[in-house]
Amino acid sequence: MSSSVRPEPAAYAQIDPPPRLLMGPGPINADPRVLRAMSAQLIGQYDPAMTGYMNEVMDLYRGVFKTSNEATLLIDGTSRAGIESAIVSLVEPGDKVLVPIFGRFGHLLKEIAERAGADVVVVEKDWGQVFTFEELRRALAQHRPKLLALVQGDTSTTMNQPLEGVGQLCAEYDALFYTDVTASLGGNPFYADEWGIDAVTAGLQKCLAGPSGSAPISLSDRAVEVIRSRRHVESGIDDGSAPRGERIRSNYFDLAMILDYWGPQRLNHHTEATSMLYCARECARILLTEGVENSIERHRLHGAAMAAGAAGLRLRFFGDQAHRMNNVLAVHIPEGVNGEAVRTGLLQDYGIEIGTSFGPLHGVVWRIGTMGYNARKDAVMTTLAALEQVLRASGAPVTAGGGVGAAAEIYQEAAA
Ligand SMILES: *Cc1c(COP(=O)(O)O)cnc(C)c1O
Repeated sequence: MSSSVRPEPAAYAQIDPPPRLLMGPGPINADPRVLRAMSAQLIGQYDPAMTGYMNEVMDLYRGVFKTSNEATLLIDGTSRAGIESAIVSLVEPGDKVLVPIFGRFGHLLKEIAERAGADVVVVEKDWGQVFTFEELRRALAQHRPKLLALVQGDTSTTMNQPLEGVGQLCAEYDALFYTDVTASLGGNPFYADEWGIDAVTAGLQKCLAGPSGSAPISLSDRAVEVIRSRRHVESGIDDGSAPRGERIRSNYFDLAMILDYWGPQRLNHHTEATSMLYCARECARILLTEGVENSIERHRLHGAAMAAGAAGLRLRFFGDQAHRMNNVLAVHIPEGVNGEAVRTGLLQDYGIEIGTSFGPLHGVVWRIGTMGYNARKDAVMTTLAALEQVLRASGAPVTAGGGVGAAAEIYQEAAA
């Protein structure tokens, strides 16, 4: 019998994933409340209950992004769906886009802008560093782009780019300002209106405690004007009859049409991904119930405890620690230790996942996250205790209790 013969469907077991504690750079374990919301029954897309939920989602994410932008909604897809919709809708072929790159996701913004036909210019920083305000000013003054596209927290390096004042800078140079806050939102300060952001996109699988698959987005009135001035028609299918500008080069990510679907006209575009909308709504509801500031402080505390614990295990930090995100830490893999063997040991013996990184940092660092539902004391202490055992087995010189002891001190100080 050929090995390509598939088993009877009944031979496949029901989905029953192994218990895991996800302490990498994302995804992380979803909050059980989000999973329950996701399992709720479907309703029709024009059911008043559904349009009511859509309006609630818009309102909730205004709270999460700290904005009064009317155009605050969800793009169906993972975080890069949000990125792609913002860039392809704002940028016309030939437009100049400036991308300051300090990690992998800057390269992604560059690639997406290039695919949208933009004339892309980049400035680069070594991995582990962020741009200064003056460096951004110089790049804007030199290149005078239509759009500045800049990541806030880049999980590949764990760095958190300061954005305060950058929107005002962009306004001075007449540039639109887009930022990807997928990794940082909910765990680090972010103020869309105060910081003069024109377009911002996120995802659920980092500090928002949900699964990947929905991308919250918010657009300033200025960004909406730019998008609406590009040719689109009102049926969800562009028949080419509306001669205004260069048409947006994607149907799925045409924000002009998506805005009409979420707006009062409810013009059909796609069928909103209902289960993911339930998730996104619950993620925002949980975050706002805790309070955004409290959530940021929780990420700061557990991130600090994890960092102290890692230092207690004699692990050396990677990158400029003054600009590290609260929710993810990168440490050098110790000399002589097999990094992948440690990750495998953690997963197989303890059900705990941590990450390595990409490109120049692959096999050089581990990335340990404390985010969303897993930014908790028990998750931090369990991870440090298991890591100590696996490090010891791999021959690293660790002091017994060095990790959990150092983390416990941070918790004691916080409680005092
Ligand atoms: C994790 C991350 C993403 C994730 O994108 P997906 O399409 O959801 O996989 C995007 N941007 C940044 C900065 C991230 O850290």
